[in-house]
Amino acid sequence: FLPHLIASLGEIEQTYIMVKPDGVQRGLVGEIISRFEKKGFKLTGLKLFQCPKDLAEEHYKDLKAKPFFPKLIDYITSGPVVCMAWEGVGVVASARKLIGSTDPLQAEPGTIRGDLAVQTGRNVVHGSDSPENGKREIALWFNENEINQWTPAQAPWLRE
Ligand code: GDP
Ligand code: MG
Repeated sequence: FLPHLIASLGEIEQTYIMVKPDGVQRGLVGEIISRFEKKGFKLTGLKLFQCPKDLAEEHYKDLKAKPFFPKLIDYITSGPVVCMAWEGVGVVASARKLIGSTDPLQAEPGTIRGDLAVQTGRNVVHGSDSPENGKREIALWFNENEINQWTPAQAPWLRE
């Protein structure tokens, strides 16, 4: 296990992935989780959660000045979301690629947004944009005891 980690290229990162309320309402939870699971990243946290307004505002605080901010907060708090923490080397950038562009009409086919959504205001999934934000967002959405450290049985079949 340890030599396997040391031999891996690069730092192990964490990213916060969230199925937004439209993804939950449209029955896309399994499909979206599956994309990250099949890629080979490690799930370390998972819950269905009704987001309170103050948490949504904190999560999206960098967008506070945007005209769409109130609509964004209404959207994220409009129903339960599925909160996930994923871990792996390169997981932050890779998850952003799997998710696709913010505007689903610009997102490439094969990406989650490219395959499953049509509008920026209903783009089904969130992913952290940097390793720093990955840590920040996981700390924001999860309690420490909700994050699980474990070694997947498939680990030696994912990395030499
Ligand atoms: P992301 O990192 O790809 O999710 O995109 P951003 O960080 O730029 O924006 C965060 C979220 O705000 C997006 O995923 C959308 O849900 C929402 N958003 C961004 N731009 C717009 C917009 O122009 N209109 C609306 N309605 N929502 C937007
Ligand atoms: Mg963003």
